[in-house]
Amino acid sequence: VFAHVVRAPEDPILGVTVAYNKDPSPNKLNLGVGAYRTEEGKPLVLNVVRRAEQMLVNDQSRVKEYLPIVGLADFNKLSAKLIFGADSPAIQENRVTTVQCLSGTGSLRVGAEFLARHYHERTIYIPVPTWGNHPKVFTLAGLTVKTYRYYNPATRGLDFEGLLEDLSAAPSRAIVLLHACAHNPTGVDPTLEQWEQIRKLMRSKAMLPFFDSAYQGFASGSLDGDAQSVRMFVADGGECLAAQSYAKNMGLYGERVGALSIEQIEIPVVSVVVGVKERRNSFKDILVLFVRVPRLMYFCHDSQVCKSADVSAKVESQLKLVIRPMYSNPPIHGASIVATILKDSNMYHEWTVELKAMADRIISMRQQLFNALQAKGTPGDWSHIIKQIGMFTFTGLNAEQVAFMTKEYHIYMTSDGRISMAGLSSRTVPHLVDAIHAAVTT
Ligand code: PMP
Repeated sequence: VFAHVVRAPEDPILGVTVAYNKDPSPNKLNLGVGAYRTEEGKPLVLNVVRRAEQMLVNDQSRVKEYLPIVGLADFNKLSAKLIFGADSPAIQENRVTTVQCLSGTGSLRVGAEFLARHYHERTIYIPVPTWGNHPKVFTLAGLTVKTYRYYNPATRGLDFEGLLEDLSAAPSRAIVLLHACAHNPTGVDPTLEQWEQIRKLMRSKAMLPFFDSAYQGFASGSLDGDAQSVRMFVADGGECLAAQSYAKNMGLYGERVGALSIEQIEIPVVSVVVGVKERRNSFKDILVLFVRVPRLMYFCHDSQVCKSADVSAKVESQLKLVIRPMYSNPPIHGASIVATILKDSNMYHEWTVELKAMADRIISMRQQLFNALQAKGTPGDWSHIIKQIGMFTFTGLNAEQVAFMTKEYHIYMTSDGRISMAGLSSRTVPHLVDAIHAAVTT
């Protein structure tokens, strides 16, 4: 009965590893997968993670019962603090609902399903390019996906004018997907000043920011530094969604640990209706509130004064309806590791040190690759390698050059020329440089 089923293509990213695994060459190099490798090319389990696991194993009181639908309570609270900041007013004012989900992907999916059911504007704008799974996650959740310009191949940097133009032309109240830091695949992030302009523009149009935070701390080595974009949006009192992943920054890839937070605003509807100043104080801000009225009304429809804790509880109840038929409740082990580390100040510190070491090794790989290309005299400007941020470099190599490097040098990467810097080591840099040199000169 399934004879008619057609073979689907391999996932463009995970398919790279499938091809790599089949290659018998001893010189093969996998720069496709977004997973950290040590200088020896081995996967890394953080010491602090091993220690947390040991503590969990030794604790005889622990059982394997189901978690609640929304996951581990401690994990949720600590995750919200990690992304929004320990002293975030949004958390203190009970304006944040956090649910444990299946890593970053699951958090995006649950958030998108919630928006498709409960947010009146079902269009989400995603950057071009973006992580290949984004359009699929959002489309399958029931959102309409549209794009905004992000990357300028000519400068190998941000197309800031294009981004502003596209968001300005997009409808008010649209959802906008933003990479919190270390944009994948380009490694190009807006500066803080540019973030501020994006924030102003989006707030003036009452757009809803949906942050994808898959690399917090992994980009710069600073957890707070890498959350600045999100915190800027939270600090202005407007709504925001954030999907967090602990895959990269805690190396918990296969444990599938992540969180979705929905932060909403606290404005008495009555003050919006009569234009009384509450948190806002300029005429323009009051106008913005009027643009937002339908959305506020939605959240606050049955009370004259919008009680944030009440809204959070309602949002959580609806998130449960999204999660229960999908996977019932999330797994316990990874979230327990994260909660153990986040709630103990010594372990937290140990984590930040190990995280910084991973980030620093990647930054040093950028420098080594750049230096080696310079030393070899490979034609072209390669300065983007040291300017880009996070796990990936968008090399600028085209699909043909990538295919050549795979065939002749057994180097595997996605066809858009993205390489994972975390997959590189001092030992493999010369091989990659030879391949790039040959690809651009033949
Ligand atoms: N968003 C982005 C931008 C990513 O790069 C990734 C991982 N490649 C994810 C989300 C989700 O990863 P995971 O589901 O493994 O946490």
